Amino acid sequence: MAETIFSKIIDRKIPARIEYEDDRCLAFHDVAPQAPTHVLVIPKQPIPSLADLEPADEALVGHLVLVATQLAAKLGLGDGYRLVVNCGRDGGQSVDHLHVHLLGGRQLRWPPG
Ligand code: AMP
Repeated sequence: MAETIFSKIIDRKIPARIEYEDDRCLAFHDVAPQAPTHVLVIPKQPIPSLADLEPADEALVGHLVLVATQLAAKLGLGDGYRLVVNCGRDGGQSVDHLHVHLLGGRQLRWPPG
C-alpha cells in the first residue's frame, strides 16, 4: 500500500497529538476537529478502507471500536458520542488508511451531510 499521511504518523515522520497507542492501533487528535473532541483510531496495519477488510481482520476491527469507546470514556464523553468510518469517495473518505472517527463534546446532528 502507498504511504499515507497516517502511516507517516505511525512511523513518527510527522507529528500528531497522540492519545493512545498499543501494538495494533494508534489514536490521535484530528488536525481539523469537527467537534470539541475529534480523535482518529487507526490500525497500524495499513488497510486502505472498510472495503478492503477480510475475515481475518474481524478482531482488529473490534479492537478499534473498543479502543474508541474506552477513549470516549477517558475523554469525558459521558453524554454520548459518535463513531464514524467513511468509506470511499461517496462516503467522504480522504485518507486511504482505515480510521474510526470519535466525535463528541457537542450535540451532533442527524442525518450527516
Ligand atoms: P476521512 O475524510 O474520513 O478520510 O478523514 C480523514 C481525517 O484525517 C480528516 O478528518 C482530516 O482532518 C484528518 N487528518 C488529515 N491529516 C491529518 C493529520 N496530519 N493529523 C491529524 N488528522 C489529520
